[in-house]
Amino acid sequence: MKFRQVLNWIMVLILMTTGLMGCQAKPAQPEGNARIPVAATTGIVADVVRQIGGESIELVQIIPNGTDPHSFSPSPQDLSQISQVKVVFVNGAGLEESLLKVIANAVPDAKLVEVSKSNNLIEGHEDEDSHGTGEEEHAFDPHTWTDPNNVIQWVDVIVEELSQINPSHQETYQVNGEAYKKQLIDLDRWIQNQVSQIPAENRKLVTDHLAWGYFAQRYGFEQIGAIVAGFSTLAEPSAQEIAALEDQIRAQNIRAIFVGNQTNPALAKRIADDTGAKVVVLYVGTLSNAEGPAPTYLEYIRYNVNAIVNALK
Ligand SMILES: [Zn+2]
Repeated sequence: MKFRQVLNWIMVLILMTTGLMGCQAKPAQPEGNARIPVAATTGIVADVVRQIGGESIELVQIIPNGTDPHSFSPSPQDLSQISQVKVVFVNGAGLEESLLKVIANAVPDAKLVEVSKSNNLIEGHEDEDSHGTGEEEHAFDPHTWTDPNNVIQWVDVIVEELSQINPSHQETYQVNGEAYKKQLIDLDRWIQNQVSQIPAENRKLVTDHLAWGYFAQRYGFEQIGAIVAGFSTLAEPSAQEIAALEDQIRAQNIRAIFVGNQTNPALAKRIADDTGAKVVVLYVGTLSNAEGPAPTYLEYIRYNVNAIVNALK
């Protein structure tokens, strides 16, 4: 009897340990149902994929909310979560920098799909992509989602890919995709309405890096400059560059410096103190967690547009 008790305890311990490990390492695995394992890099891409895939997919978001997508590098645990996926939806256009090679090596059988592949990309000027580091890869602005019309094109890419890997749900994906496109069209109209409160002469953006090109192009703003004057966050501005930006802010009577919530605001605060502009925090490459103000793409856009309008109107 004693031996049996010991054996029982050992079983309990094993179950507890594997249970705990399971919680840390993996999301719930599909049990007998036909959920298709799928991954997405950023929270923004993941949200759009979720709107279309719904309950038919088991979705892993690779880059956690609140993390800069330009600099994120995954841990072995992050990669073990995607070992089963058939497809990885990535933003593309250069956003995920070194991450894509790591993913391709970790899951060589999965298909990497760039949701931005149909978007008409904004190309950088020479001083945007050769700034400081001389990195050539940032020649295109990867922040395609700042214009919902680009996300409308993402929907078609996602519907097509999900339909290929899960043909029995093709109709659902199409219906979900069309419904979401309607919400994106409404969002575009809403943004136009909101920004109409900002006088034309105030539609000027100074930001932490050049992340709002598609938004500016669609809604009549001008990107005056950025603390890191490139499409990526991965650079340090020189003292001369900061001085030149401060001159611009004064000369153009800029009221606000918009910075991503994941960037260190110290430099932005110093520039604000020097020039009399104020620092306004936006969500840039990341959504908030569920309890925050920007847990979905639609809420992310509304939050940011409200913040921009309130600062500039
Ligand atoms: Zn960015």
